[in-house]
Amino acid sequence: MRVLSGIQPTGRFHWGNYFGAIKQYIDLQDNEQAFYFIADLHALTTIRDAERLRQNTQEAAIDLLALGLDPKQATLFRQSDVPEVTSLTWILMTITQMSLLEKCHAYKDKKTKGIAADAGLFTYPVLMAADILLYDSDLVPVGQDQIQHVEVTRDLAQRFNTLFGETLTLPESRVLDTSAKVPGIDGEKMSKSYKNVIEIFETPKKQRKKVMSIKTDSATLEDPKDPENCAVFALYKLFADETQQAELAQRYRAGGMGYGDAKQAVHEAALEYFGEARERREQLADDTDTLNDILAEGARQAREKGKEVLDRVQKACGLGSNH
Ligand code: ATP
Ligand code: MG
Repeated sequence: MRVLSGIQPTGRFHWGNYFGAIKQYIDLQDNEQAFYFIADLHALTTIRDAERLRQNTQEAAIDLLALGLDPKQATLFRQSDVPEVTSLTWILMTITQMSLLEKCHAYKDKKTKGIAADAGLFTYPVLMAADILLYDSDLVPVGQDQIQHVEVTRDLAQRFNTLFGETLTLPESRVLDTSAKVPGIDGEKMSKSYKNVIEIFETPKKQRKKVMSIKTDSATLEDPKDPENCAVFALYKLFADETQQAELAQRYRAGGMGYGDAKQAVHEAALEYFGEARERREQLADDTDTLNDILAEGARQAREKGKEVLDRVQKACGLGSNH
């Protein structure tokens, strides 16, 4: 079984990325054939600064390793190191209906928020389909926002197979119920592009400030509070065990506890949770040679598989000179 997922180097990773996606990457790396990539081609739709993109990509790789991704178990690579993916994107584009892309949330949401939409953003789900299909992926661990894009991928694979014969593998998404949509400091989905994130490796001081700014309702100190309708409690749940959750829930309902106390609990729980990863990150940050070796070896492995699938696709639709 092939597991595959990608993550954009559009900024430093946040709690939503970790609990929605990265934690699943690590859980699945031991017993599945895992391919994980840093989606720099996707990031190019938002970052137009070579140095920044390069830097972000490197930081992303270091972060993933620090968080527990093991390059001996999983293949870690840069999306742009496998140019076959853009060939497959074009081929898929020729069988993609505009109406299918017009329905996609990520595009619709960004457009509503007034972020100018170019063809790259509009066709992003086709590149994502190519990312998945190029490696015969079976399972795609993602957060809730990406389910629709995996559905698009299945549609395109099915359409290709109908037109040209059984060629592509249909993938399934894997979403964790408990962390499908982690809220940001404004209560909306935590997202790098919405500037509402709490970054995993932010300095403790900055992180505390962000946690303290999480939006809550106007209940006073004495008021009983509803833990199930509170972004602070939703975040606490990610870090705490069931007993700790029940204790804090009880303090919410009893009244007499301010949101400040709950926020402090979130801050402390997060520091504890990512403590080891922080230490590992410091060691990894100085060793760029090892990092480059890991990414080069990852690209080699991914490309080997990618070439095989692209070859099959080209043969099925009459492209290329090798057939
Ligand atoms: P951008 O705003 O640039 O799209 P992002 O913060 O949404 O960035 P992505 O790189 O698009 O991050 O997503 C990487 C992975 O993290 C995806 O699988 C996505 O579903 C997951 N993810 C992102 N935000 C959240 C969230 N708030 N809760 C759960 N999963 C999330
Ligand atoms: Mg996103």
